[in-house]
Amino acid sequence: CDPIIEVRDLYVNFYTYAGIVKAIDSVSFKICRGETYCLVGETGCGKSVTAKSLTGLIRSPGKIEKGEVLYYPEPGAKPINLLQLSENDLRKIRGSEISYIFQDPSASLDPLYTIGYQVSETMYEHDRIRSIKEGIRKAVEILRKVLMPDAETRVKNYPHELSGGMKQRAVIGISLSNNPKLVIADEPTTALDATVQDQIMDLLKKLKERENLTVLLITHNMGLVADMCDRVAVMYAGRIVEEADIYELFKNPYHPYTKALLRAVPNPLTKMEKLESIPGTVPNLINPPPGCRFHPRCPFKMDICERERPPDIWVGPGHRIACWLYGEKKSSEGA
Ligand code: SF4
Ligand code: MG
Repeated sequence: CDPIIEVRDLYVNFYTYAGIVKAIDSVSFKICRGETYCLVGETGCGKSVTAKSLTGLIRSPGKIEKGEVLYYPEPGAKPINLLQLSENDLRKIRGSEISYIFQDPSASLDPLYTIGYQVSETMYEHDRIRSIKEGIRKAVEILRKVLMPDAETRVKNYPHELSGGMKQRAVIGISLSNNPKLVIADEPTTALDATVQDQIMDLLKKLKERENLTVLLITHNMGLVADMCDRVAVMYAGRIVEEADIYELFKNPYHPYTKALLRAVPNPLTKMEKLESIPGTVPNLINPPPGCRFHPRCPFKMDICERERPPDIWVGPGHRIACWLYGEKKSSEGA
């Protein structure tokens, strides 16, 4: 794997009136250049917090307590620890080399400015163009690239004049306007209706190939994972409980939570139709369950699970899990 991002031992807390929410608890993973890497899990498991941490987007009352985010701009380049950069230096990378697509396009767009202006402004902020006027001409090309119908007219439109799907195309255009290397898409279609969702995911797939992108996709939807991703990390209550390539995960899941998650959605490999829900509720992360955070919901729980955090265990090449059921095997990458 030629890594573009390497997250090491990340911890994020939120200081709320009710107490300290331990939102991310020692998360580590690598994203390889050119792949679509996916973080999947239920709402509140820490996917978005992880994604935002990568470029220091965690705001008060949240705080990154510990960890490294190593960014390799080029293959073999000396990595930059993004968590040690100043806000000013981070801003240069965010929106240009690493860009985001968030869930709700309406919230990402400014209602007071035209689409063309907003595409243009992103390029201007990162010194890609000399004037907003020059940018508006480029914005037409960018909107064509994201298959915006009638791009010449749409640059002059305000967000409220566009449909939800068109708005998300505009947001994708903005995020691609500075030729990013890594695009982080956080539930990019959740706010859209089903047919538009498919179109937007198709578009992302095409753009990824055409623009040589690396994509970090955040979703709670296993169907999307199966459709889009090369490798996937399953998150539960602020931790990664399993990571594998996509075929391996669907064919050979180890972790009880992954298995439950796969039973809860139609499995594209087994064509299983029946949906099961996972008994129990997501834990409160102010007082997370000790040991394995999944133990209150786990049908295989043992004594040790309530006391000690399960270590990462490599069960095959590129396949790791954090579960006491599988004992303590070698802790190298299992290659
Ligand atoms: Fe279940 Fe124990 Fe494995 Fe946690 S470590 S998933 S409680 S068996
Ligand atoms: Mg989220």
